[in-house]
Amino acid sequence: MESGTAETSTETNGPVNGAAAPSTETIDVLNPATGAVVDSIATSTPESIAATVARVRANQADWEALGIEGRYHWLGKLRDWILDNTERISDTMQAETGKVRADVSLDLGYVADLINFYGSKAAGYIGDETVRPNSPLLAAKKLTIQYRPFPVVGVISPWNFPLAMALGDSIPALQAGAAVVVKPSEFTPLSLIEIIEAWKEEIGAPDVFDCVQGTGEAGGALIDNVDYIQFTGSDRTGRKVMARAAETLTPVSLELGGKDPMIVLSDADVDRAANAAAWGGMVNSGQLCISVERIYVEEPVYDEFVAKLTAQVRGLRQGADGRKPEKDVGAMTSPNQTAIVAGQVDDALASGARALTGGKKVDGPGDYYEPTVLVDVDHSMKVMQDETFGPVVGVMKVRDSEEALRLANDTRYGLAASVFGEKERAERIARRVEAGSVNVNDVITNMAAMGVPMGGWKQSGIGFRHGEYGIKKYCRAESIVVTRFGGKREPNWYPYTKARRGLVDRVSRAVSARDLKRRLGMRG
Ligand code: NAD
Repeated sequence: MESGTAETSTETNGPVNGAAAPSTETIDVLNPATGAVVDSIATSTPESIAATVARVRANQADWEALGIEGRYHWLGKLRDWILDNTERISDTMQAETGKVRADVSLDLGYVADLINFYGSKAAGYIGDETVRPNSPLLAAKKLTIQYRPFPVVGVISPWNFPLAMALGDSIPALQAGAAVVVKPSEFTPLSLIEIIEAWKEEIGAPDVFDCVQGTGEAGGALIDNVDYIQFTGSDRTGRKVMARAAETLTPVSLELGGKDPMIVLSDADVDRAANAAAWGGMVNSGQLCISVERIYVEEPVYDEFVAKLTAQVRGLRQGADGRKPEKDVGAMTSPNQTAIVAGQVDDALASGARALTGGKKVDGPGDYYEPTVLVDVDHSMKVMQDETFGPVVGVMKVRDSEEALRLANDTRYGLAASVFGEKERAERIARRVEAGSVNVNDVITNMAAMGVPMGGWKQSGIGFRHGEYGIKKYCRAESIVVTRFGGKREPNWYPYTKARRGLVDRVSRAVSARDLKRRLGMRG
């Protein structure tokens, strides 16, 4: 296996942290493909985080006043900057994550698309809504809903897609008119730092977008200071984030882990299903919240599917590449994750599972886990119950689609899923899977389908990203009720007289009743 070649050095301390008092503590950012230190960044103190939030808060009103088009103007400049500097950002991201080049490009392509998506859709999603009055008693009123942003949104993001997650959640918030402060993962802060520097210095955009640095402590301080929290990470941390936000009644949206099932029906195109399972399970070394982790295959096609999947996974090229995409599977970005993956696979092997390929950590240099296909697994094993978040799939043979569905839904998670088979039958099965998104005859593709919501059921999250909800969640609805005409007083105001009360009661009854007798004040 080759070791990494994609290191860069960035100057990261200083102004991007927007710090009131610079911290003396630093974090070393390592290249997981080599173990070498890529850079060292200063952590933010609780005081500097409060100061950063206060600074962008002071500029938020002007940002909101720019309107949807005015804000898209700046976000469009960010898109252009990213497109013009793709190689540079990709080098940095590759160095801090140990990804192969092809996986890096997933991150940046998503961000550019998302800017265009919300830029073109925001007016429809969060523009003023006019509503017809629900009662003739309100006929003189003009009803409008205005969507106003939470002034400052805090985004806390994980290490697996440093920009798709951190920027992906910031873009709709900025487009909605909020100021945004991101706390990226302490393992992968560098590419975001470059983006924030570009936003401020090269693009010269309004000072409403910044980042702070550190571990969970910095995340907690951010929660204490902002008006809305968008968190992406593990369900374990998600619980802590929600508890902390409850102290200030700060609303949260949580995008958490998954244990995504794939169902392969007997009428599936087995080649397509096996190719999809190999990519869906191993892309980004399986470090994707919606990667395929469990596979249930109907008996008649089980042997063929397993043979094709195993052959493909065994042939994957693992290691580090540079700018040319020469490898398929990269490093494990977080060392903690490698231990979790190894623990789950060892537990399964000790309980009777077999690894048809892979099954262990690769000897150094770098932090790699072999692409692994497990069979003879069952739901008593951690590898079929807990999120693995590594290049491992467990495959089970099932009698029929009912057994596949029962097993697919036997999980505390509910992020995404996939069903392969004849498309109408597969869609019928898909509709019964308990998950926020289900792909039929594809995997992971719901992430690119920005018009439909993406979020977790059960313990995979609260709230959604993408679509209308993905920007509306950053807004508070403000109902404007305008009296178009009404004279000196409304009939239900003072003074209460028999005649005026009687009129109000009769009209109100006439409006509520659904039959003539009751409308006339008689019992039915
Ligand atoms: P994590 O929960 O360990 O950390 C996520 C972020 O939370 C990091 O920035 C971390 O520093 C911060 N954090 C840690 N403790 C905190 C605390 N007490 N208060 C506030 N912030 C705190 O997750 P991770 O290991 O970085 O990422 C992997 C997880 O993310 C997986 O479970 C994966 O499924 C999930 N994920 C989900 C989605 C999704 O869209 N649903 C997308 C990507 C990743």
